[in-house]
Order: sequence, then structure tokens, then C-alpha cells
Amino acid sequence: MLTRKEAEKQEYLTLAPYAIKSKETRGRIHKEKEHGYRSVYQRDKDRIIYSTAFRRLEYKTQVFVNHEGDHYRTRLTHTLEVTQIGKTIAKALRLNNELVEAVALAHDLGHTPFGHSGEDALKSLMTGHGGFDHNSHGLRVVDFLEKIYPDFPGLNLTHEVREGIIKHSTPFDKPRPYIPFESKGSPSLEAQVVNIADEIAYDNHDLDDGLTSGLINEDALDNIPLWKGICNIIKKNYPKMPKKIRKSQIIRALIDMQVTDILKNTEARLKKFKIKSFKDVKNFPEKIVAFSGEMDNSRKPLREFLMKNLYHHYRVVRMSKKAYRFIQDLFEVYVDNIEQLPSAQAAARLKKEGKHRVVCDYIAGMTDRYALDEYKKFFDPYKKV
Ligand code: MG
Repeated sequence: MLTRKEAEKQEYLTLAPYAIKSKETRGRIHKEKEHGYRSVYQRDKDRIIYSTAFRRLEYKTQVFVNHEGDHYRTRLTHTLEVTQIGKTIAKALRLNNELVEAVALAHDLGHTPFGHSGEDALKSLMTGHGGFDHNSHGLRVVDFLEKIYPDFPGLNLTHEVREGIIKHSTPFDKPRPYIPFESKGSPSLEAQVVNIADEIAYDNHDLDDGLTSGLINEDALDNIPLWKGICNIIKKNYPKMPKKIRKSQIIRALIDMQVTDILKNTEARLKKFKIKSFKDVKNFPEKIVAFSGEMDNSRKPLREFLMKNLYHHYRVVRMSKKAYRFIQDLFEVYVDNIEQLPSAQAAARLKKEGKHRVVCDYIAGMTDRYALDEYKKFFDPYKKV
């Protein structure tokens, strides 16, 4: 049997010098006995998968709401795609794969129902009451809101996984933590890998889902050089390939091309900036895991296309605005009379944290369908409460 201690030793032989080693973790808030054969990050990953917040990801919106169809991404399948892209990058760069897996699995645990419109609603409703942002909320979920263990609240994850959650950032989300978290310097390379894997995952699956739904049209992508280039090669090699299979092959090639670009460019950056240790990563002010300038330029028109044609499609906007309205209505109903909240344990927290935060936690934890059901209970006179 491979013991934890032996596995920890092996990391020094197999991982890169700038990778985080399990043995060097800054540890957990509440001290616990180490496991016989599971590393600290392996345990974190398992804890995340067994959490309630993780299971709820299945019924939280990515771009398409759950009732639109069974073939679209949800937060759960998005999370799994981020995890597998992240692990591919981590393995090739000889980073700590288990840490990447744990951060990736947890990176969206703080998301509200109905994606960014749910988050925007809570943001505005929590102005003056401590604010809201999904990364800070993600940390709150794993540090406090999950209740599984008898001796402490939350999942008691390691510092490095918690840091990965709080330092999660993509062009769409720059966290402004509202809970204290002491961490100086840049994110670990493992956390940087998750950030970029998130970008690759959503760009490509949103493109895929957008085409499947018919909200975007393949012909319109002819003006996007990155898409057109791959499409031409595939059409030349397989002139009679059905459209649906061709779409999957183009998406597949797009992901592969972007991951390869990151690997090459990151290796060059590690060399150029003389990154030799984890400490060097911490002290380096810019991100190290990055696309090349050339790939950044090629991705730009594709991302602008998605922004204009998918995220701002009238049907997506209608659904977002509708979600914003009823999240707002739900919030106001609970805050107006807190006794309508089903949770008995809220009483102690009400005193300490105030009703706005308790309501915010409750709504943020909902799945789309639970939120819809609650809405009906309050506003449909014939619905049982
Ligand atoms: Mg994500």
C-alpha cells in the first residue's frame, strides 16, 4: 500500500520545483489528524464532492436555464469540464494535480441560482449590508455554511484550496473579498491553472451550447478567423462530415489548440522570469499561466462574438432580467418578515449576522428550480406554502 508519507516523498521527485507539495501545506483552520494514505488535497477534493453545495450545482444555471433542455451545460458539468482541462494542464506542467482538482471542483460553489443575474441581484440587494460576490461566498460555503462535521463548521479545507477559491478571477469576475482572508502575493500556479481552465471551458461550451440551441448560427462564425481556420481543415479532411459531428470536432480542436498554447507559453514564461520555486511564484506580480499574445488576439473576436450574439441574445437577456426580478422579490419577501424562513437554525445567526446576510445565504444556496418553487409558494395563491 502506498502510504501518504511515501506519496508525499514522491511528489519531490515527480513535481516541478515551483509546484505546491502536499507536505508543505499551511494546513487547516481546525487541526485534524492526517490520513494514512490520502494526501491533504485528496481529502479536500473528496470533502467538496460530498458537500451539499456541490450536489446543488446540477440544478444551477450556466447560461441556459435548466428547463431549456437536457443537453446544455449546468454549473455541475461546467465544473467537471474545468476540472479536466485544469488537470490536463497541471499534469503537463508537473504541478500538483490533486490541488488543481480540489480548487476546480470548488471554484463555483458560491454561485447563486440563475447565474450572473442572480449574483447581480444579490449584489445590489446587499449594498450597505456587507456586499455579495460569488468567490467570497464560495469561501463562506466551505468555511462556514456546510455542516457535516461535529467539531467544526464548514469543510475545514486547506489554506491552499481556500486561497484558490478566493483568488479565482477571470475577465468576467474580479473578486472583492468581504470576508477576511490573509494571503499575500500572487495566486499559486495551481490556482492560476484553474482560472485559465475556467475561461477555456466556458468559452468553448457556451459556443457549443449556443450553436446547439440555434441562438447562434454557424454561418455567422465564418468571419471569426480562429473558427474558420479549424473549420476549413476539418472540411478538407472530411468533406462529407455531418454538421453536428463537425461542430464537436471544431470545439474539440479549439480546446486542444488553446491548451497547447498555454503549455508552451507558460513554459516560456517560467523560463523568462526565472521562476524556480513557489516563493518566486508568490513574489511575481503578474500571472504566469497565460495564453500567448497571438492566441489572446485570436480569441478576442470569438469572445466578442459570444458577447454580442449569445450573452446579449434577446432570449438570454429576457431570462436574465426575469431571474433578477424574482430573486429580488424573494429577497424582499424574506427580509420583510424573517419568520417565513424555514430554517430553525437561523435564529442564532440572525442576532450575530443580521437578517440580510441570513437571507442572502439562503437565496445564494438555492438551485434554480428551488428558487422558482419558492417564488410560486409566495406569489401563486393556489400553491401550497
Ligand atoms: Mg466557472
